[in-house]
Amino acid sequence: MARYCESVCRLCRRENLKMYLKGDRCYTDKCAIERRPYPPGQHGQGRVKFSEYGVQLREKQKVKRMYGLLEAGFRHAYANAAASKGKTGENLLQTLELRLDNVVFRMGFADTRNEARQLVRHGHFKVNGRKVNIPSYQCRVGEVVELKERSKKVARIAEALEAVDRRGVPAWLELDKAAQKGTVRTSPAREDITMPIQEQLIVELYSK
Ligand code: SF4
Repeated sequence: MARYCESVCRLCRRENLKMYLKGDRCYTDKCAIERRPYPPGQHGQGRVKFSEYGVQLREKQKVKRMYGLLEAGFRHAYANAAASKGKTGENLLQTLELRLDNVVFRMGFADTRNEARQLVRHGHFKVNGRKVNIPSYQCRVGEVVELKERSKKVARIAEALEAVDRRGVPAWLELDKAAQKGTVRTSPAREDITMPIQEQLIVELYSK
């Protein structure tokens, strides 16, 4: 399966936004965007003026990178959002938030979405008692996401859970830290997604 293997800090610098793709390091003064707050590359410090298309494209790239998706996965999520009732932009964000890898990350079982995706693929989680190893699995309201018994001893998961208080768990999820499981309480509302995203720009881009 294709995946992005370059430095993820370049992605933050390209989008001029802290996307917290590296876990602990993002909260230290080693954060690359704090030290070099301009786009990567030889001409990174030059002035850049984006066209309307360029602004829409950058917004799409930003959200895609934030959730760690490649183009095909993002398009698939968009197609699902467009086919659902309601506002396509908000549906898209809801679809991305309800992916199992994102839910695992938001509940605090992993420091980053990339790590959460790997843990899901390696079969560490059950949803409503059934093993699910598909990162794009869409969680539903009321579903319980829990660690498999043997996975409760995995050090990196335990360490991530210890640090969960720093990041916090969003109100639409509930975590039982002692039992190492969480519940999807409600669907995420637009105001629950606090990263600066202008989803309308993505809708405009894909509507061309
Ligand atoms: Fe982004 Fe984290 Fe790298 Fe900072 S340390 S640039 S927030 S990935």
